[in-house]
Amino acid sequence: QGNVRFEDVRFAYNPDRPILRGVSFEVPAGRTVAIVGPSGAGKSTLSRLLFRFYEPRAGRILIDGQDIAGVEQGSLRAAIGMVPQDTVLFNDTIGYNIRYGRWDASPEEVREAARLAQIDRFVSGLPEGYDTPVGERGLKLSGGEKQRVAIARTILKGPPILVLDEATSALDSFTEREIQDALDRISRGRTTLVIAHRLSTVVNADEILVLDRGIITERGTHESLLAEG
Ligand code: ADP
Ligand code: ADP
Repeated sequence: QGNVRFEDVRFAYNPDRPILRGVSFEVPAGRTVAIVGPSGAGKSTLSRLLFRFYEPRAGRILIDGQDIAGVEQGSLRAAIGMVPQDTVLFNDTIGYNIRYGRWDASPEEVREAARLAQIDRFVSGLPEGYDTPVGERGLKLSGGEKQRVAIARTILKGPPILVLDEATSALDSFTEREIQDALDRISRGRTTLVIAHRLSTVVNADEILVLDRGIITERGTHESLLAEG
């Protein structure tokens, strides 16, 4: 479950400026595919199309063989988990932010998600710590801590498909390594599309695609792409 396929997808925000010029690739169910490329290449546009924030001008996007053009946005959001570059938390408690979208989750499930995301590193005395307010009038979280909350929310949501859009690129290199480990853990067994601008952050991907000015120019593994230079 969770096979994602882009078939000759073309897209432009403005008709006179093509952004995606025929992009085809597949993320087999349970596998990880990374899209790397320079800023402005069209990487984030791919994920916006996957959530149907925009529609392709041509080509198709399929999930488990079904064209998403006929799938409601709500169903896509339920099936696809997203960890963005900068997580914006609600000005509410940590627990609210973890449980967001999974209000039926039991306290045990919430605790397990928080444990896997290692939130106890900055909130002591769980589960009381879940009532800690964050944001403007609460605890100020670092970038890495916010990413851990986003990861806990994603673990709780448990979607078959995951999009990680530059999820570590705003972090210092030490925090980046820690969050990368957590992301590697949650992507295991899930169909995962990783968007990154550096090859060094996608070592574990089953396949890496290089996107440049709306075209896939190279594909391979971390080793084969490094060997080519
Ligand atoms: P990447 O994620 O690879 O950095 P994006 O997909 O964000 O690239 O953007 C690709 C191109 O599309 C960029 O030139 C960007 O300026 C342009 N773009 C992004 N969003 C919009 C928008 N809403 N309207 C017009 N142009 C946009
Ligand atoms: P779902 O409820 O299925 O998670 P949503 O569209 O409500 O779907 O949210 C998708 C993801 O986007 C959430 O998991 C959350 O991380 C993020 N999100 C949505 N709205 C906000 C918001 N206002 N502030 C912060 N994050 C948000």
